[in-house]
Amino acid sequence: MSEVVKKSSLKTLYRASDINRVWQASQNVQAIEHPERGFISPNEYRALYKGKPCPYCGQKMVHSQQLYSTTSKQEAIDRGYEYTDKLAGKVINQAGNTFFHPHYVTLDHKINKARCPEKMFEFSNLEVICWRCNQNKGDNNTFELQHNLDYLNALADEALTRYPLL
Ligand SMILES: [Zn+2]
Repeated sequence: MSEVVKKSSLKTLYRASDINRVWQASQNVQAIEHPERGFISPNEYRALYKGKPCPYCGQKMVHSQQLYSTTSKQEAIDRGYEYTDKLAGKVINQAGNTFFHPHYVTLDHKINKARCPEKMFEFSNLEVICWRCNQNKGDNNTFELQHNLDYLNALADEALTRYPLL
């Protein structure tokens, strides 16, 4: 494992900017111990989920910067990358100067890496979700619970519609 991702050194990271820098710099470092594939990099992990549905929105996730990103904002809008965010209004997923497809594969940290940097590459702390859901989730550590609650409520509603109370 590379020097930058040693757990002992991760523990000493306190600033969010340092944590992000380490994460960004490690995208091709085989630091994630996948139970079936051994050590793989964050990029390799994302690539495994190309074409698979996002666990939250169910949309097919895409992966390939060449195919699903552009540096032109107008091109991004023409391609339909823009979507409506609950809080921010119309948004396009953006990293640096590049705009991405709304359902581009991302790796989400269940426990935010800023809160717990030593779990940054821990397999059990990572979840593959689309960029839009990741954006939506933000720093909300109850996102998964809320999603499950919404799902259970929907199931209950459906059951009540099907079998009305007498
Ligand atoms: Zn999604």
